[in-house]
Amino acid sequence: RTVYVNGSYLPEEKATVSIFDRGFLFADGVYEVTAVLDGKLVDFAGHVTRLERSLNELKMELPVSSDELLEIHRELIKHNKLDEGAIYLQITRGAADRDFVFPKNAKQTLILFTQAKPISAPKSGIRIVSAPDIRWGRRDIKTVQLLAPSLTKMLAKEAGKDDAWMVEDGFVTEGTSCNAYIVTKDSKIITRNLSNSILHGITRAAVLKLASELDMEIEERPFTIDEAQQAAEAFVTAATAFVNPVIEIDHVELSGGKPGPVVTRLSQLYIEESRKAAI
Ligand code: PLP
Repeated sequence: RTVYVNGSYLPEEKATVSIFDRGFLFADGVYEVTAVLDGKLVDFAGHVTRLERSLNELKMELPVSSDELLEIHRELIKHNKLDEGAIYLQITRGAADRDFVFPKNAKQTLILFTQAKPISAPKSGIRIVSAPDIRWGRRDIKTVQLLAPSLTKMLAKEAGKDDAWMVEDGFVTEGTSCNAYIVTKDSKIITRNLSNSILHGITRAAVLKLASELDMEIEERPFTIDEAQQAAEAFVTAATAFVNPVIEIDHVELSGGKPGPVVTRLSQLYIEESRKAAI
C-alpha cells in the first residue's frame, strides 16, 4: 500500500512517526474513516466538518485545508487503485517531550491510509450482546483512544457474537463503533439523541435524513435493552457498515433471526443514495 505521512506518499514500510508523538503517548489525536464506493468518497464534507469539530474541542486546527484533504484522499485512492473500502485519517498534536501540558510549537502529525474491503454487499445481520459503557465522558469527540470499545468488542467476540451495544444508566448509548437503532412494531425509528454520550455519526445524520424523506417517523431518545428486545427490527450505522441489520440482542432474536423489511429497505436505499452522491 501507498500511505500518506505529513506531505509524503510512501510505501507503508517506509512510513514512520516519532516515538514521542502525542498520539502514541497520550492518544492525543482524532481520526475519521470515510467510505469509498466505486473509487469515490461517501459524505466527504460531513467527515471534514466533524473532523474540524473534534480538533476544535481538543484546541487544535486542521493542519491543511479541506481542499487539500480531498486531494490527498483522491491521490491515495488513485495510488492504491481503491474501488471499495475506506480511507482512515488521523491527526495528532505531534511529537514533543513527554508532558501533560500541551507543547507550544509541536507540528501536527497527519497520516492517511486506505483499506480495501467489500463494504456494499448485502448484509445478513449481526448478533449483539449488551455491555457496560466504560468510555470517557466526551464520546462526541472522535479521538483515537479506542481501548474501551476495543475491550468491549472483545467481550462480544468471546461470547461468540458480532458486537456489543454499550449501556449506561440503564440505556443503550451506541455500538462499539456504530450508532444503534430500533424499529417499533408501527415502523417508528428510535435512536439515542445527540449529546456528549455518543459519537455524532455521519451515517446517522444521512440515514435519519433519508428516513424522514421517506416519511418515516423518527424518535431521538434513549432506549433500554429490554425495549430493544421487544422491537420489530434493529440496526446499526457506521461509515463502512452503512445500515447493518441487528438480528439478535442478548440472546433474543429479532424479526425471526433475519433482516426485517424496514431495515432491508433503508439499507438498500442508503447505499443507492451514497453511490449517487459520492465524489
Ligand atoms: N459510534 C462510534 C463509537 C463509532 O466509532 C462510529 C464510527 O466509527 C460511529 C458511531 C459511526 O459513525 P460514522 O457513521 O460517522 O462512521
